[in-house]
Amino acid sequence: METTRLNKAASTDGSEANLFEPDFVFFEPAALDYPLGRELYRRYKQRGLPIRMTTSHNQVRGIPGETEVQQYRNAKRTLVVGVRKTLKFEPSKPSAEYALPLATGCAAHCHYCYLNTNIGTRPYVRVYVNTDEIFAQAERYIRERAPRITRFEAACTSDPVGIEHITGNLKRAIEFFGNQPLGRLRFVTKFHHVDSLLDARHNKQTRFRFSMNADYVIKNFEPGTSSFEQRLEAAGKVARAGYPLGFILAPLYRFDGWEAGYTDLLKRLRQQLVPEAMEDLTFELIQHRFTTVAKKLILQRYPKTRLEMNEAERKYKWGKYGRGKYVYPDEQAKELQAHLEREIARLFPQAKIEYFT
Ligand code: SF4
Repeated sequence: METTRLNKAASTDGSEANLFEPDFVFFEPAALDYPLGRELYRRYKQRGLPIRMTTSHNQVRGIPGETEVQQYRNAKRTLVVGVRKTLKFEPSKPSAEYALPLATGCAAHCHYCYLNTNIGTRPYVRVYVNTDEIFAQAERYIRERAPRITRFEAACTSDPVGIEHITGNLKRAIEFFGNQPLGRLRFVTKFHHVDSLLDARHNKQTRFRFSMNADYVIKNFEPGTSSFEQRLEAAGKVARAGYPLGFILAPLYRFDGWEAGYTDLLKRLRQQLVPEAMEDLTFELIQHRFTTVAKKLILQRYPKTRLEMNEAERKYKWGKYGRGKYVYPDEQAKELQAHLEREIARLFPQAKIEYFT
């Protein structure tokens, strides 16, 4: 496979997001047993992209690159079309009961991205074609918990809007949950490519959230994503299409002047957001965290990053299976929480803050 196409990957230089079009495509043979798998195969064949087969979407070999960083960048430009075999859904606290596995990986380059921990060594973008099986499993989980509502988070391992133009799976999921009286879907995105989702029959059972941040964070740490203005405009469209809307402010990050920076973000949201968006609006607040594994990978992949990850200035929070993470010390975390909650209450008195973590 040639590597020259890599240079056109504008998404690593801090410019705004283009629609992700892969440079390299792999297929699991079993993916061709499904209509979506066959359609994607035809599409990429017609475009003359190099297509290879892979025995498993979990072990893709042969992504080019002479150094680890080149391989990483090429992997982010690689699409793997596979079948989701593991149909045991992961829990997804605090935002939902279960993660809905529609895809794994993302072509953008946010330095702090949680995928550095979750899928550290396999950064290519995997999409799954067996959505009927995935939805049937979701239905089983919903039945198990009836009569309670069961929420599914579709952005645990990917940004599903960023790849929707490839599979159309998010729209399928929105319409599936639109027909589930006891099921709810939610996802978050940093992309503005929402037009194909506006006419989905969502029945208000999907909460469409946008990840927002202070200018400093977007400019320094989120290359390859849509700009603040693009996300905001997309949020307006989504609200006018009747979706319940939410904002995830994450990662909340203590840069010099963070208080003014976050107030400014909320003020701009308040000024520019369409009135329809205020009707059913939520905020989720997530402070910056990193793991030891992620720090090592981030420094390798983005050696010039300004992302501050000094363990000595953080608090270690133990996690499941002994895998902990570094968060802000309690006092600093409380300051972040208090500032954000105060400003949200002032500027969006009718909105609900779901959690701070
Ligand atoms: Fe990670 Fe989301 Fe950024 Fe993609 S858009 S790199 S999933 S944080």
